Amino acid sequence: MKHDIFSLKGKVAIVTGGNQGIGKVVAGYIADAGADVIIFDKNDATAVAEEIAEEYGVRTGAIICNVTDPEDVKKAIGEAAEKMGTLDLLFNNAGICLHKDALDCTPKDWLKVIGVNLNGIFFVAQAFGRYLVSNGKSGNIVNTASMSATIVNIPQGQASYNSSKAGVAHLTKSLAVEWAEKGIRVNSISPGYIMTEMTGTVRKDWRDFWVSTIPFKRMGKPEELAGAVIYLLSDASTYTSGCDMLIDGCFTAV
Ligand code: NDP
Repeated sequence: MKHDIFSLKGKVAIVTGGNQGIGKVVAGYIADAGADVIIFDKNDATAVAEEIAEEYGVRTGAIICNVTDPEDVKKAIGEAAEKMGTLDLLFNNAGICLHKDALDCTPKDWLKVIGVNLNGIFFVAQAFGRYLVSNGKSGNIVNTASMSATIVNIPQGQASYNSSKAGVAHLTKSLAVEWAEKGIRVNSISPGYIMTEMTGTVRKDWRDFWVSTIPFKRMGKPEELAGAVIYLLSDASTYTSGCDMLIDGCFTAV
């Protein structure tokens, strides 16, 4: 390539929720694009970080961090900056799902989902944004929203999840506008049904129904999200902010 616009060489990327699923796979691709990677997860992701370092020859690290706790997040950002020397990119991806009808959803259920998926995304983005601004740096954020931000999934009831992801999509635009002049771009990806630990344990009849309604007639793989994340984190997208990329096998097109 004459113009190496998709390269992440020389950058340090945080990946939240990177101990498994989408975060783990995409973290490997971010490393393959040249970035050093530090994983934040509620579980110890040291083994994943070591695997990525060995496979792609980049520097990696892992920090245990609960994204619902702003103090924990602030501490993790400080530790990550110290360990890696600097921070440039954030794949803000940790999330949970709850399949429960709205009539049965308890206040605790609701607050748990909103706590991880919306509050957690905000706390990490805010701490990362503060780090960039206080260090006079530019940077890029990609939040993981979902096609559930714009459509209502069936047959399962998941109002808390859908609402949290709609919040992420609009938070993305809000931060993109607020931080445009600070040189911080903020975009999101909205995956359709992706085969991970999160979806792997869902009732088979539901998964069969989902597949029957996806024009591609299959669920996506985590690696099929990597190109979009790298594009949005890299200099290939320098005029793009506040954008949501749907990657859903045409699900929302029908
Ligand atoms: P997984 O459950 O496979 O992975 C999520 C990771 O995030 C896990 O390691 C999980 O740890 C971690 N995590 C959960 N809560 C916290 C927390 N409070 N603080 C830090 N880390 C946490 O999910 P996916 O990889 O499938 O999903 C990743 C993202 O993609 C989520 O935001 C999800 O909503 C979104 N998404 C997924 C889709 C799919 O079909 N899979 C579709 C659309 C969007 P633990 O296992 O202990 O909970």
